[in-house]
Amino acid sequence: VPRTEFQEFSRAVEEIYADLLPDRSGEVAQYIPTLKNAPPDRFGIAVCTADGQTFQIGDAGAGFSIQSTSKPFSYAMALEQFGAGEVHTWVGQEQSGGTFNDPTLSLDAAGKPQNPMINAGAIATLALVEPDVEVSERFARVEQTWARLMGRPPGFDHRTFLAERDTGHGNRGLANLMAARDMLRMDPKDRDAPQKAAEFYFAVCSMQVDAAGLAAAGATLANGGVAPYSGERVFSQETAGRVLSVMGHSGMYNDSGKFSDQVGLPAKSGVSGNVMMVLPDKRMAVVTFSPRLDEAGNSVRGVEVCRQLVEKFGLHPYKSL
Ligand code: GLN
Repeated sequence: VPRTEFQEFSRAVEEIYADLLPDRSGEVAQYIPTLKNAPPDRFGIAVCTADGQTFQIGDAGAGFSIQSTSKPFSYAMALEQFGAGEVHTWVGQEQSGGTFNDPTLSLDAAGKPQNPMINAGAIATLALVEPDVEVSERFARVEQTWARLMGRPPGFDHRTFLAERDTGHGNRGLANLMAARDMLRMDPKDRDAPQKAAEFYFAVCSMQVDAAGLAAAGATLANGGVAPYSGERVFSQETAGRVLSVMGHSGMYNDSGKFSDQVGLPAKSGVSGNVMMVLPDKRMAVVTFSPRLDEAGNSVRGVEVCRQLVEKFGLHPYKSL
């Protein structure tokens, strides 16, 4: 991105930030104390380009648990290791039509999770990340990948992990359902394997990041898999493309279709209030952190930042033809 164009873009982000700062609509996630008690009015935006230009405003450096925004990258790691053919025998690539944790709409008729962006699909794809090594080693590989994406290692939110684990009955249920249909890659002789798969997912959701770090990870996707700070290839171009495709149709929970109409760009949100949007044409990513959520579980300000940027710069791929 040319320097002057980036400066213009950054100024627009600054204006949108100021415009949305007074907006206190929406409610923080209520299901665990760390999210329920999070300062609700935090607001930060971070932009990162493929060539490493950055812009940050507000709470762009404030930490939060990554939650569902880990999912596209867990899918990428599974793709890198097993290839798309094998991965998609375990996880589908269709919209689920349900919420991220819906027990009835998450799996297709064969018991396969509909896509990697819902909880069932994320548990299934994580079961394909270094499945044959010991679990702490598997988690280390995930952390190392994140360190390469962001240019620094992620943190870990222990309180969130403990609470996710204590309240994660639905996710354990989904893992059990998949195992019952032979749709979870696991040691068939280990009866606790589904529980362990769910626990690995809770750990990955509990990694601590900030908007600036996530923007670098998003810029890696915008850059065909090459990390902006190090110039290191983290994912193949094919993997980056597949990840953006699924974000494009299923990244924003059950408002994904509406988001596609209004914004039209690949994005992923997490219940901690983060929204990572990738601008493939501009080779950049914009990440908002603002914990108050709408009905679908997406950050209210986060969605609005995406809408306003797309509107201002005519970025909707189908509405600027
Ligand atoms: N960790 C939570 C769950 O698994 C929420 C993930 C998310 O961001 N939707 O239910």
